Amino acid sequence: SSVITTEDVHLYYGETEALHGINLNFEKNEITALIGPSGCGKSTYLRCLNRMNDLIPNTTVTGSLKLNGQDIYSPNTDVVNLRKRVGMLFQQPNPFPLSVYENVVYGLRLEGVKDKQRLDERVETTLKQAAIWDEVKDSLHKSALAFSGGQQQRICVARVLAVEPDIILMDEPTSALDPISSAKIEDTLAAIRSDYTIIIVTHNMQQASRISDKTAFLLNGNLIEFDNTEKMFMRP
Ligand code: ADP
Ligand code: ADP
Repeated sequence: SSVITTEDVHLYYGETEALHGINLNFEKNEITALIGPSGCGKSTYLRCLNRMNDLIPNTTVTGSLKLNGQDIYSPNTDVVNLRKRVGMLFQQPNPFPLSVYENVVYGLRLEGVKDKQRLDERVETTLKQAAIWDEVKDSLHKSALAFSGGQQQRICVARVLAVEPDIILMDEPTSALDPISSAKIEDTLAAIRSDYTIIIVTHNMQQASRISDKTAFLLNGNLIEFDNTEKMFMRP
């Protein structure tokens, strides 16, 4: 069954309707690319899935949105827990002004994990998955802010992976990065794709066709097409 199901999602910024009834499901261990021109509603839709739109005043979301069968917008939803289950990566890397190590273990510490060996192990595993271990292993106690943007983004990838979320939202995660960091993040996606469920917003059609299983195409707040990426990009 799907990790996330959404039916007839409408979103209003005040009186303005930015999403006009989106129906999309996301299956376990698949990467879905969300594409479409600037302003079509990609970020808005992503921010419905972890209720980041709650932070924007006067915003209304209607429709059915479920994570593992549980209503995301139920009054009983623990939003802090929801945002842990639904990890997010942004266009601009946003590490905390803490050491590399403390960035990665941040969520685990919130969960109350104290076992140093377990924390150390998780730091090494996720930084390796994020293809940044070799660059930071001798500076784990240095501030994450001391690294380049591309390195910071990979530290943020490790921070997201550390809590093993049910789904990871990525909003143009490579568009602000140098080509090498961008390629490393794509390598990471290829390596973790069988263990995670990922939705990635991208303006880069080649990236979408390289890394995604499915592609959803939005236009003016409507879902225009949703299909296997190979079919949509008509690869031989
Ligand atoms: P990007 O293309 O990088 O996502 P946007 O221009 O879409 O950048 O959005 C940048 C920020 O401005 C976001 O936080 C978004 O919510 C906000 N924003 C975008 N459009 C509007 C708008 N019409 N009114 C108010 N805030 C907006
Ligand atoms: P995309 O991510 O596809 O570039 P967005 O989701 O950022 O598109 O924006 C969808 C529409 O909603 C745009 O018309 C944008 O101007 C508007 N919008 C985005 N954020 C806000 C906001 N905070 N307040 C009002 N309008 C917004």
